[in-house]
Amino acid sequence: MMPPLHRFVLLLCLSILPLTGRAAALPVAVSIPPQAHFVKAIGGEHVDVQVMVPANAEPVTYEPTPRQMAALSQARLYFAIGVPFEQGWLPRFQAANADMTTVDTIANIRRHPMGSHDDHAGHDSGGHGGADPHVWLSPALVRLQAESIRDALIRADPDHARGYHQGFRRFVAQIHSADEAILASLADLPADSRRFLVFHPAFGYFARSYGLEQMAIETEGKEPGPRELARITDEARSHGIRVIFIEPQFAQGAARTIAREINGEVLTLDPLARDWTAGMRAIAVTLREALAPDRPQGPSNNASSPQAHMAQPHVEP
Ligand SMILES: [Zn+2]
Repeated sequence: MMPPLHRFVLLLCLSILPLTGRAAALPVAVSIPPQAHFVKAIGGEHVDVQVMVPANAEPVTYEPTPRQMAALSQARLYFAIGVPFEQGWLPRFQAANADMTTVDTIANIRRHPMGSHDDHAGHDSGGHGGADPHVWLSPALVRLQAESIRDALIRADPDHARGYHQGFRRFVAQIHSADEAILASLADLPADSRRFLVFHPAFGYFARSYGLEQMAIETEGKEPGPRELARITDEARSHGIRVIFIEPQFAQGAARTIAREINGEVLTLDPLARDWTAGMRAIAVTLREALAPDRPQGPSNNASSPQAHMAQPHVEP
């Protein structure tokens, strides 16, 4: 006897198919959560999206579960975005599912070198090679990815080409209004308040898009050693940095140490929010509030300022 849900689904298929000829949604896979937003925005009900690296996983070391691998064997398309996770796994995904087409959504994007904390050259030092993979945090680059996604969906499922074109246009409008809102919210930050310190340098493209400057604690994917930590702490002090941003996906030890040294505060920025539009706006709001010069200063600088929402400075014994 068939379980009730299966019976229901079967009946549903039988009742819909003859009327509309509609096939099941196109099963596709993406690497990271924001891509699911892009594909869903464009494909709507015609696509069924599977994310390989879940929201809170460390994207470099994550290993897909057997359940994910099973689901992946049904996927028709894989939208690659060039994150390090794909280097090891994509060949295996492809080997496990010969019918799956891999779409390079950054084929038309020239990536910048990975940003370095050493910004004194006025430019990326490029010292630790490798392209910056965080291309989903720039509205202009997301628009380019959206074009690749639209074209691949149309090739794989031409019956719904009209829907994909419409979805694309709606999504572009969404990208545009998020971009405008972020631009407006950051517009009046003075030039000397546009530098921020993050643990993992995920916000290079975001910073470029909005005239901000990113400094990072992590170098070459590693936590800094004691000497490096001291150097970054000095640099943070010299730039009057009072806030250190961490990402939920990464360890926080070094960030906390530096925060303690500069009597600063630790705040979270999430580069991997699945709701991309909301995630981008949240990044802008958090940065704006933290960088605005009228923000209450940290405890060591002005002991009389309001501190209710400040991280408690750690008192060394
Ligand atoms: Zn990253």
